[in-house]
Amino acid sequence: MFYDWDWADRFLKGGRKKYERPLYDRGLRIWKTNKWDADSDINVGYTWNGTTPYVTYHKDGTTTIQGFTYAHGWSALRGYSTRFTIQRYAGITVLQRNFKFYLQEDDAPLSPPKIQGCRTCAQSGLVDGWCWSRTCYDGKLNADGKMYCDTHPEANYIGQLHQYRWHSVPCPHGLSDGHPVTKELVCSTCKGSKKYDYGSKPERMLWNGSPLRLRDGKVIKSAASQLERMIADNVEFVIG
Ligand SMILES: [Zn+2]
Ligand SMILES: [Zn+2]
Ligand SMILES: [Zn+2]
Repeated sequence: MFYDWDWADRFLKGGRKKYERPLYDRGLRIWKTNKWDADSDINVGYTWNGTTPYVTYHKDGTTTIQGFTYAHGWSALRGYSTRFTIQRYAGITVLQRNFKFYLQEDDAPLSPPKIQGCRTCAQSGLVDGWCWSRTCYDGKLNADGKMYCDTHPEANYIGQLHQYRWHSVPCPHGLSDGHPVTKELVCSTCKGSKKYDYGSKPERMLWNGSPLRLRDGKVIKSAASQLERMIADNVEFVIG
């Protein structure tokens, strides 16, 4: 679902007042900048923020996003809900890292691959971890009124089968309690291959939250050239 002026216009026309309506999404509202103008910009935001929207749809099909900064310097983009709102209603991802904000377009170009030895497992393919016993639910009630497991017939003899048809299965070390293991688990970063691609990262743009015009979820070229494009290795979603 891609949200634009046409969608917003239809949505408002389906409401009672035709110029302002709840979005039925986390308390957000949608409203016209000029309620008597049929071609008016249409905004998405929280009315308790005054009239500053996060997303504004224009009749020409473009969209403006902004993450305003309060007088005391706190950016609205620090709120997860703000970033989520921009992502949902403008189709571009906003990421936060170390008090900076980045935009990432869908299908953003990737940096070249950079295959190196896996740093998680020091190129061994294996990591330390915790070995758990497992639970099997394959028990069956036999004619003699006892439970049996076809997969683990030994479970019958050690009296492990319960009326709920489960029993614990010892780990490959023969232990029924969890225990730590050293360099035995397959590394989840490299899947045991000992190599990992530290490149192939999507391009992101540093953004301070000032109003920015998009078309189809992409920053319009003239504006994009003013943003610092970068490959931010360590940019992740930070909740809250
Ligand atoms: Zn079993
Ligand atoms: Zn074990
Ligand atoms: Zn690894």
